[in-house]
Amino acid sequence: MEEVTCYIPRTLDEALEILSKDDCTILAGGSDLMVSHKRTIGVDPRFSKSVMIIRNLPEIRKIYTEGGECHIGAASTSSEIAENPLVPWHLRQAASRMGAVALRNSATIAGNIANASPKGDTPGPLYLLDARVKIRSAKESREEPVSDFIVKFREIDLKPGEMITEVVVPLSEDDFDYVFWHKVGTRKANAISKVTVSMALKFEDGGSVVRDFRVSATATGSKTNRSRDVENIIIGKEISEDLIEEVAEAFDGIISPRAMPEFRRETCRRCIRRFLSEAERRRAAGDRRKMIDTYDGYHMPGAPEVR
Ligand SMILES: Cc1cc2nc3c(=O)[nH]c(=O)nc-3n(C[C@H](O)[C@H](O)[C@H](O)COP(=O)(O)OP(=O)(O)OC[C@H]3O[C@@H](n4cnc5c(N)ncnc54)[C@H](O)[C@@H]3O)c2cc1C
Repeated sequence: MEEVTCYIPRTLDEALEILSKDDCTILAGGSDLMVSHKRTIGVDPRFSKSVMIIRNLPEIRKIYTEGGECHIGAASTSSEIAENPLVPWHLRQAASRMGAVALRNSATIAGNIANASPKGDTPGPLYLLDARVKIRSAKESREEPVSDFIVKFREIDLKPGEMITEVVVPLSEDDFDYVFWHKVGTRKANAISKVTVSMALKFEDGGSVVRDFRVSATATGSKTNRSRDVENIIIGKEISEDLIEEVAEAFDGIISPRAMPEFRRETCRRCIRRFLSEAERRRAAGDRRKMIDTYDGYHMPGAPEVR
């Protein structure tokens, strides 16, 4: 039987020290790694390098707010994120709809980011909210926007000796009047997304002019798509049918032509049309309900309402 070294550090410093000496595989929840290293039924997965299990490091399991930002420890699980009222709504939605309960109890946010799958659920909200990752090695620490850290399909900007320690999300939610998150999967639970669209919009105080608008979509290219150029089409203007169509078409333009074109494209266009027209309808009617969701009112038990 082949053997690999398995480290289980007790502190973050110990983990970083190990990483500086041994280029080992970081294992958090293991929900991606155990699948990618599987052999066959009933046979243990095979790892070619040493493995370091980090899921129980206390320093990277905390969720707290500081300086107008939400800090989420790298080893926080989807369940912990979904249940924590400090976490912004879009991210709680995404975390609450990942896999099934057992998976959500083990899958971590850093694992979801570092896996760099375009179908990963948390990058959509993280791109939308301008989130950053904190990265540490034994000698240095640095920060990078999640949208830069994920370079492309299965490629991240992580150097040997480094690990993600925290995800930082600016708390801009109160700046949004209307929010939207919609995941299309084969089932309502335990389904990898076919496409997920996250959106948020803010009007100028008491007015009809759009102050901020954001839209991101997963599973529509080699990584999550978001473009400030597309969003700028409607920022500073009043929502009209022509502008909605312009935004929908412009977003379509940034989606990879290889991303199963028509189904994913049409879903994104429909979501954008639905969100922008409903936001304008609610604004004109004085309807302050924030959440605009195309899931026919369906929510996973325990899924968060808007704060
Ligand atoms: C049945 C099933 C259903 C699933 N459903 C969904 C779903 O609905 N939505 C979804 O998005 N995903 C889904 N996934 C994929 C997976 O669960 C997620 O990507 C999960 O978040 C991975 O986290 P983890 O902690 O298990 O990662 P691991 O498997 O432990 O690691 C994944 C990668 O991240 C790296 N890594 C982990 N932590 C760190 C760190 N701190 N610093 C640097 N690198 C790190 C690892 O080295 C590895 O390369 C599913 C998987 C399964 C098996």
